Amino acid sequence: MSWKSFPKIELHLHLEGAADPAFIRTLAAEKSLDISRIFDKNGNYKFDGFSEFLTVYENATQALQSPEDFKRLTQSVLENLAENNVIYAEAFISPDFCGDRDLGAWREYLAAMREAHVEGVTLKGIVTCIRHFGPEKAREAALCAVETAGDWVVGFGMAGAENFGRARDFSYSFDMAREAGLRLTSHAGEWCGASSVWETLKELRVERIGHGVHSINDPKLVEHLAETGVALEINPGSNVALGVYPSWIDHPMKRLRDVGVKVTVSTDDPPFFGTTMTREFEELESAYGWGIEDFKLLNETALEVAFCDLATKDVITKRLEAL
Ligand SMILES: [Zn+2]
Repeated sequence: MSWKSFPKIELHLHLEGAADPAFIRTLAAEKSLDISRIFDKNGNYKFDGFSEFLTVYENATQALQSPEDFKRLTQSVLENLAENNVIYAEAFISPDFCGDRDLGAWREYLAAMREAHVEGVTLKGIVTCIRHFGPEKAREAALCAVETAGDWVVGFGMAGAENFGRARDFSYSFDMAREAGLRLTSHAGEWCGASSVWETLKELRVERIGHGVHSINDPKLVEHLAETGVALEINPGSNVALGVYPSWIDHPMKRLRDVGVKVTVSTDDPPFFGTTMTREFEELESAYGWGIEDFKLLNETALEVAFCDLATKDVITKRLEAL
C-alpha cells in the first residue's frame, strides 16, 4: 500500500541535503553560478561514493548565499515534508553554511529559516558542526547553538566525515551545548565500526546516534543501547544508496529493533538518495513486512526521543492518536 497519507516523524534530515536539485539550479542560475558539474543528465545530483557525495553536497550549498535563500530552502523542504505527511521533523542546520559561523550572521539566517511555514508541519532545528571541518570550527558552531538555544533550536549535533579525528576532539563543543540545555546527537557507526559508537557515547555523551547501524556487529553495544535507551536515527535508504549495505534486506534495522534498541527512520538527504519518507515506509514494508502497528511504534519511539518540549510532544501525540 502507499504510506503517503500515514503521519510520520522524521528526526534525521540535513536541511541543505533536503534541497531539491531543481531548487539549487534555480538559485545558482539567479547568481550566475556554474555548478552544472554536480548534476547528471536527468538533473539529479551526481556522485559516486561518500567522499564525492560530501563534495557535491558542499558544492550545492554554494548556491545558498543569503538568509533569504535559506528561507526559500526551508519553505521548499517544509512543502516536501507536508507532501509526505511528515507532521514533525527535526532538521540539521549548519552555521558553517550560514555566514561562516559568524554569530550575528547566524542569527539572521536562523530568523529567516523560522519565517518559513507550512500548515500542519512542526519543524525544530538541531545546530550541527561538521566533523571534517575540525574542532575549532565545531566550537564556533557550538557557540552559535548555545546563543540561539530555545524553543526552536533544541539540539546540537555533529555530521560530516566520521573518520576525521577522534570524538574527544569535539567534547568541548558538546559540553558547551549540554550546559546550555541543548539535547545531543552525533553521527557515528555509519562508516566506522561499533568502536566509533562507543567512543561517541563516552566522549560526547549523546542521547541519540545518527545512523549507528554498525552497532549490530558488537553484541555488547547492542545490549548497552537497549539498556540505556540511546536511540538510533536510522536512514536505510541513505545506507543502501551509499553502499553501506547492499540491500534493504541486508540492512540491520529490523534486527536492532527486535532486540530492543530504539530505532527511528529518516531520509538523511532525500533527493541525493532518491528517497522520501513515504518511500522509506514502502521499502520497510516490502523488506520486513512491516505494517500499521510497526509504523505506529516507529512514530511513538521517534516522538519519545524527539528533542522538542513536552507541550509540542502533546500536540503531536494528539495528531497521531487521531489516526
Ligand atoms: Zn546524516
